[in-house]
This record gives sequence, structure tokens and C-alpha cells, in this order.
Amino acid sequence: MTHLTTPSFNPFTVHIDFAGLVMDKPDAHNIRRASAMRGYYQDKGALEKLIEEKNDPLHYETYEKHVPEEYGHLLFCISKIQPGTVGEECFMTKGHYHTRINTGEIYFCLQGQGYMVMKTSDGKFDTQRMTRGGLVYVPPYWAHRSVNTGKEPLTLFCVWPADAGHNYGDIEKEGFPKRIHLRQGMEVIE
Ligand code: MN
Repeated sequence: MTHLTTPSFNPFTVHIDFAGLVMDKPDAHNIRRASAMRGYYQDKGALEKLIEEKNDPLHYETYEKHVPEEYGHLLFCISKIQPGTVGEECFMTKGHYHTRINTGEIYFCLQGQGYMVMKTSDGKFDTQRMTRGGLVYVPPYWAHRSVNTGKEPLTLFCVWPADAGHNYGDIEKEGFPKRIHLRQGMEVIE
């Protein structure tokens, strides 16, 4: 673990464009298209159809500023998940544990609606409804995935310890015990 001993990094301000709900002048704009989600949805055929027919559409994206990935710093991003379903399953992020698993995260919903879906490796499961103005606290040890159940993008502001790291591999193997579906316009968690 690296400890900062001197104030070697200068303060800065970043603007969020409230009209478009994007970060102005991000250092990184990461895009995941539908094809990056192979293996994550129940209905594999529906995902392939989406990739084929809609020319591998944008699935979700993040806007980030670079800060040192060291103990003491905070990373933050704007995360935007597109609306839609794969079969009946709502568009979602891959989900991850943090590499340093004893680190939490804040998600603040700026737009849209959906769920934060969470689990621990010892069998706990939780979902938190997300609507504009809702702030979800993801405690340490919980894998987390955001799911868009609405008709507009689900846009979230997130902040987490900069040395937390992302572990996608374990949750990819384990999966989450429940998925979020839309059936006749109703949200179904099962
Ligand atoms: Mn996280």
C-alpha cells in the first residue's frame, strides 16, 4: 500500500453537463458495446441478434478523470447505461468486485431508473432501486452491477477509493443469483 506523504497533486474542478449528463473534458471515455457483453445475458441468441441487427450498439460508457490509483485518492466517474433489453433481461453492466475487496463505493443517480444488484461471495444478495436523486451505498465486500429498467439512459455518478481496483473475473465465474427482467412492462427480479 502506498501512502501519500506530500501534497504532490493539485486540486481541480470538473464540470458535469446537466443537459447531456456527461462529464466535460474527461481524461477517459470508455465505451462498452453489446459484443463486450457476450456470456453475461441469459438469452445468448437475443444478444447476437441485437449485435447483428443494430450493428453492435453502444451498451454503456463511463467518463473519468485520471487521478493516481493510490491509497488516499478518490476515483470518480459518470456511468451511463443505455435503455433496452436482451430478450426480457434489462441492459446492465458486467459487474465487479473490487480487487481490494474491503473497499466500498457511492453511486448517485442523476437520470433514469433501475437497480443496483449486489452480492457477496458468502451468499448474501441485495438489490437497491435507483431513481434520480437516490444514492446507493455499496459496502465493502459486495460485488455490484447496475441495471437500467427505464426508457432513458441510467446515468450515475460514482466515487470509490482510487486503489480499489476492479475484479471482473470472479463475478463472471460466479454470476449474480438473480437477474432483472421486463415482462409486459413490469420489472421482475428472479
Ligand atoms: Mn466498483
